[in-house]
Amino acid sequence: MTLPTRVLVLNSGSSSVKYQLLDMRDRSRLAVGLVERIGEQTSRLKHTCVTGGDTREQNGPIADHEAALKAVAEELARDGLGLDSPELAAIGHRVVHGGMFFTEPTLIDEGVLTEIERLIPVAPLHNPANLTGIRTARGLRPDLPQVAVFDTAFHTTMPEPAARYAIDPKIADRHRIRRYGFHGTSHAYVSRETARLLGKDPSEVNVIVLHLGNGASASAVEGGRCVDTSMGLTPLEGLVMGTRSGDLDPAVIFHLERVGGMSTDEIDTLLNKRSGLFGLCGDNDMREIRRRVDEGDEEARLAFDIYIHRLKKYIGAYYAVLGRVDAVAFTAGVGENAAPVREAAVAGLEGLGLAVDAGLNGARGDGPRLISPGDARVKVAVVPTDEELEIATQTYALVEKNSR
Ligand code: ADP
Repeated sequence: MTLPTRVLVLNSGSSSVKYQLLDMRDRSRLAVGLVERIGEQTSRLKHTCVTGGDTREQNGPIADHEAALKAVAEELARDGLGLDSPELAAIGHRVVHGGMFFTEPTLIDEGVLTEIERLIPVAPLHNPANLTGIRTARGLRPDLPQVAVFDTAFHTTMPEPAARYAIDPKIADRHRIRRYGFHGTSHAYVSRETARLLGKDPSEVNVIVLHLGNGASASAVEGGRCVDTSMGLTPLEGLVMGTRSGDLDPAVIFHLERVGGMSTDEIDTLLNKRSGLFGLCGDNDMREIRRRVDEGDEEARLAFDIYIHRLKKYIGAYYAVLGRVDAVAFTAGVGENAAPVREAAVAGLEGLGLAVDAGLNGARGDGPRLISPGDARVKVAVVPTDEELEIATQTYALVEKNSR
């Protein structure tokens, strides 16, 4: 029997579900959509049937993830793409934290669910929502293979010196404290696409990937394997982000507690939700920050400069980690769209062989492209990420392997 070719990708957040239905024969999208504000009175489902060119919106309360997935299933069914279709081969779920245990995409069974549950203490915001999405989808199609694709998996190749914090290993191990890294699906996809852009096999190239979205992370990828990444135990470490501080002297936390009188939860909220670009200047959208910078706004200028300074430090650090760098790839919302960020991050690094061509950097373009001068020693690239396609590809590869 030939394997069906469609994969539904589900990304279940605490109050949202993003989904895409893909046909793996040509990796095309059949439908995409989003349910937001689940559990509130103002929930919204936006569904686009790509093949029919039709977008529909539903506004009104959607009580929980089960109701959300049922509503999604109904929308898909209206387009003849329902979950009961024999064309559907599998459902691929994004799971944020796979700890040390999950190093690759994994077929979901009760044991896998238990393990994802055991990881909740290190991913309290994400794993519970991911689990709810999986359980609901399994309820709707218990017979269908469902695959967990972990944000952390690509980083499990990090060597111990990069993955360990310099604290007592007994305490670290007891509490599973180590650097896990996130955005792994994107780093994997973008590093491979960058190799393809250079006309090389991933095993031949060393790439620094800069995933700059609302969350942001850098990774050092050596011959296709991640050897370092900027996020750590949680997605708070590393680069300056939309609302997260990134790197910080840990003593700032003790100081806020002892001197500032703040509770642990208040500090958590401060550093995760009210810091980064937003904390520095009141905006976390790079478009708005650039507009303000161009108008001479000093607060926005300083926020931008702090963001760039941190980014540049990571480029330098990962250059040193890799020893030889073939390409630096910018990706995600800011990396793909903000030419001033790319220009500023690379400015002054000519000594490292890094430069951007102003014309190429400023030009708009859709696919992966080089923005460094033709003779550049290290190529600088813009490589659009596609986490859903990567999740679908990994899911389908596993299902195909198991069907042989
Ligand atoms: P998420 O982490 O939510 O997946 P994205 O990768 O979609 O984020 O990136 C979202 C961010 O991308 C926005 O907050 C905004 O700062 C930035 N962005 C999007 N489009 C542009 C643009 N044209 N110019 C500058 N920044 C942009």
